[in-house]
Amino acid sequence: MKFDIITLFPEMIQTYCSFSILKRAVEVSAITVNTINPRDFSLDKHKKVDDTPYGGGAGMVLMPQPYVDAYESLEHMPNSITVMLTPQGEPLNEKIVNELAQYDRIILLCGHYEGFDERIREIIKPREISIGDFVLTGGELPALCIMDAVSRKIKGTLGKIESADQDSFSCGLLEYPHYTKPREYRGLNVPEVLLNGNHKEIEEFRRQESLQRTKQRRPDLLN
Ligand code: SAM
Repeated sequence: MKFDIITLFPEMIQTYCSFSILKRAVEVSAITVNTINPRDFSLDKHKKVDDTPYGGGAGMVLMPQPYVDAYESLEHMPNSITVMLTPQGEPLNEKIVNELAQYDRIILLCGHYEGFDERIREIIKPREISIGDFVLTGGELPALCIMDAVSRKIKGTLGKIESADQDSFSCGLLEYPHYTKPREYRGLNVPEVLLNGNHKEIEEFRRQESLQRTKQRRPDLLN
């Protein structure tokens, strides 16, 4: 999977990808991460990428020229999708993550300040995705959320030990609770069934816990 991220702050993306599981995913070539900075495409002598909004109002708007030129500098690739990060997009969920994981390349468009000049959206015609009903200062964290969640679906990113098969949402339910050593901590004991080595009983216990949690916390998932 190749990720091309158009951002004014490439270091934010590169830093995140230099740690833990995404770092390993890059090292084993399960994913490649490329950043493109619209500032490098600005025709303005001061490398300006934003300006005040027509009609007045607070904040700065990302100008179309540097952004669209940065986008059009990318090589054409088959089986590729372009995603614009915006609080006005469809809310991200596991289904969308699975859909995105079917592509070979995802181009992620990160906004900043007051957001994109509307013509960027009209020209590029991206899929628009939000990570929730709240507003962040920029699209970098949302882009990283998508990259991270999609990368977990790509072969080679997770070792067996971190397998995603049982994770919440992957089979429509929240995952069961986990326990590790010690067996007793501050008077709280690991459930006996997890210690007896009976795999059938453990599986049934976990299934029941999973169902109960989902019923309590996210009954909407059971529908
Ligand atoms: N003025 C815009 C609005 O009200 O819809 C919000 C702009 S926001 C301050 C700046 C950038 O952060 C957006 O262009 C987008 O890329 C990103 N962003 C902020 N919140 C987001 C969210 N919930 N989901 C996805 N992207 C978000």
